[in-house]
Amino acid sequence: MAVLLLADVNDGQLATDAVAKAVDAVKSLGEVHLLVAGEAAAVEAAKLEGVSKVLKAADAAYDHGMAESLAALIVSLAGNYSHIGGAATAYVKNVMPRVAALLDVMVISDVTAVIDADTFERPIYAGNAIQTVKSSDAKKVFSIRTATFNAVGNGGSAAVEAVSGPTADLSAWVEDKVAASDRPELTSAKIVVSGGRGVGSKESFDIIEALADKLNAAVGASRAAVDSGFAPNDWQVGQTGKVVAPNLYIACGISGAIQHLAGMKDSKVIVAINKDEEAPIFQIADYGLVADLFEAVPELTSKL
Ligand code: FAD
Repeated sequence: MAVLLLADVNDGQLATDAVAKAVDAVKSLGEVHLLVAGEAAAVEAAKLEGVSKVLKAADAAYDHGMAESLAALIVSLAGNYSHIGGAATAYVKNVMPRVAALLDVMVISDVTAVIDADTFERPIYAGNAIQTVKSSDAKKVFSIRTATFNAVGNGGSAAVEAVSGPTADLSAWVEDKVAASDRPELTSAKIVVSGGRGVGSKESFDIIEALADKLNAAVGASRAAVDSGFAPNDWQVGQTGKVVAPNLYIACGISGAIQHLAGMKDSKVIVAINKDEEAPIFQIADYGLVADLFEAVPELTSKL
């Protein structure tokens, strides 16, 4: 058995954290090969431990995550692999359903555990139940929810081999519009400070951001905070937002609805600051502070 993982490449750079966690998830299945679009990203990918070969797709048609061409290339390589997948990121989730359709197999999405070559676990009902999926498809196509895995190290030295294959001209890249931020990326940040409806306004979110900057953390938000216009959409954590599992998650003025917990409950240490001692967030918090966030958060920031 061999596994082909599509590596996320953004703006020419390997998304190392997501890819390293995806490698960790599948390494028990057999030899792991990474398909990487781009020269610099391929060099980085070759350093990941547990990877035995990097397939470098050098043709510009595969750059910018162009899904139609990447899917065509993966299908042309599929004969060598029993398993084909990648991290459950926007980049990979754009490609894998096309691969599965072209191979006429199912996609096993958001895998949180690999039981054996045919059997996988994945969360359902906003993470309230874990489904065990046994697939009889000849080839398994899947995405990995990286939050539950540890990144492999970067002491490897895999061989890099150039690959070419079919391309599709159904679409063309025009430009990427990416929100620029000096803060760590939300899904791979080691610390996340999130604000909810309790923060009260866009202006008041400054105190959440000040604490985040003190801790070199990413900023997150509940959907209520996003819907109220306090925080931008790409900060949303939860079932319909991003899934995070940092070492430390600080929830400020967030009640702890199941849809929010679905996006952060795998965090290693959860701190909740809420003025309502009955708030459900305290049931999953490792440390709970019953306090007014407008006093506690600035005080914490200044003490840090
Ligand atoms: P609230 O529930 O209003 O809680 C605000 C909290 O702030 C309260 O606990 C209050 O005690 C506290 N507070 C108020 N003032 C202060 C103060 N001064 N100091 C300290 N504490 C204070 N939600 C998500 O977050 N992410 C999702 O992805 C998501 N997806 C959803 C998908 C679906 C299909 C549905 C139906 C809902 C989804 N939701 C999601 C919404 C979710 O159900 C909740 O409505 C939302 O998470 C509530 O956000 P909140 O905790 O900020 O607000």
